Amino acid sequence: MAEYPTSHVWSPFTQMKAAVPTLNVRSGSGAVLELQDGRRLLDCISSWWVTLHGHAQPEIAAAIAAQAQQLEQVLAAGFTHRPAEELARRLVDSLPAPLQWVFYSDDGSTAVEVALKLAYQFWQNTGEPDRRRFLRLEGAYHGDTLGAMSLGERSLFTAPFVDLLFPAEAVPFPATWEGDDDVEAKEAQALAHLQGLLAEHPGEYAAMVLEPLVQGAGGMRMCRPQFLVALQALLREHDVLMIYDEVLTGFGRTGELFACQKTATQPDIICLAKGLTGGFLPLAATVCNGRVFDAFYHDDPSKAFYHGHSYTANPLGCAAALASLDLLVAEKYRSLTDWQREQVTRLNQHERLCRVRRCGTIVAVDVLVDGDEGYLHQVGSLLRERFLARGFLLRPLGNTVYILPPYCIDRTQLSSIYDVLFELLDEL
Ligand SMILES: *Cc1c(COP(=O)(O)O)cnc(C)c1O
Repeated sequence: MAEYPTSHVWSPFTQMKAAVPTLNVRSGSGAVLELQDGRRLLDCISSWWVTLHGHAQPEIAAAIAAQAQQLEQVLAAGFTHRPAEELARRLVDSLPAPLQWVFYSDDGSTAVEVALKLAYQFWQNTGEPDRRRFLRLEGAYHGDTLGAMSLGERSLFTAPFVDLLFPAEAVPFPATWEGDDDVEAKEAQALAHLQGLLAEHPGEYAAMVLEPLVQGAGGMRMCRPQFLVALQALLREHDVLMIYDEVLTGFGRTGELFACQKTATQPDIICLAKGLTGGFLPLAATVCNGRVFDAFYHDDPSKAFYHGHSYTANPLGCAAALASLDLLVAEKYRSLTDWQREQVTRLNQHERLCRVRRCGTIVAVDVLVDGDEGYLHQVGSLLRERFLARGFLLRPLGNTVYILPPYCIDRTQLSSIYDVLFELLDEL
């Protein structure tokens, strides 16, 4: 019988019996984390994709401290405050013009729950209650609550709950990479599949939910902007709402502020979280267009959106988000995008690597392995441990290694990640 851990903390996504001891972090600064034992780690994955400007970033820390001394929290029904108002205005000004109405919640999963409930009730409010089905992409991930899981790929993570999940028809994801000459065929096949579903169930789809350009947890898989343009045209033609989950891709990750801008597409609803506060506090926003809002804006109380959370529009979170948006104005994600482009050429030459792909600040590559690829492939944990031993925090998704650093990382630090990757590949 294994010894129980000495800590009372139950870690996420972890088999506690097989777990290696958790690392105790004392502090962070820029792209570097410092452990209690004095070791330093370069955070190459922005602490699960949330840290935009670096750890303990002073301006954001100061904004939170100032707000905490003025107003830390107030219920959001019937009350508002400057940070919530100002943040909503700033988000609306940064997003495509039709997106006008901001509904706050807590994290990526709740942002997605809000979006799917809005889409579902939208059709009841507008007299088309038969529109109850959802569409999704194969390999999708939208969070770990039940609704968000229903819209994601069925996996090891969702298996125990499969009876609780509602169905959502999957459209193939035309994943592409550098030198892929099959992409047009994959896109055509995906669009034909979608067209088939729409024709089979006319007037029955409420919405399609998707991660635009980059599927994060599904393996950092990427698609082309053209595909999203074509997808949007099909959904419009059949009057199906389009929901973008930009929880990962938002706030500069794709090289533009939002993937919808990079692709010149306009979702009806967009979900934002992760980088919203620069990685300081949990806060999310679901932003919708006037058409969606108008379906709820009514003399009939039953048409209201009865949803909320204790911490909806928390003032500290909103203050952190405002400070983060101020820092984004410097557009450091553009230089990181350039440096990532330089590094990628090195990956293309390595015999153990395949499917090199890049979108803005995100680079991913698959390590060639024997046997089945996938989340549990041991090469992932092996690489993670060896990276850690050399002072680098990376968390491969199975045999997929991805590099998604905070925007404050410098060129030398970035280059050192690739140097170590090559050393480790040679050791394998
Ligand atoms: C992380 C993630 C979520 C879930 O966000 P949480 O804050 O972990 O609940 C949803 N969608 C995407 C695309 C994500 O990357």
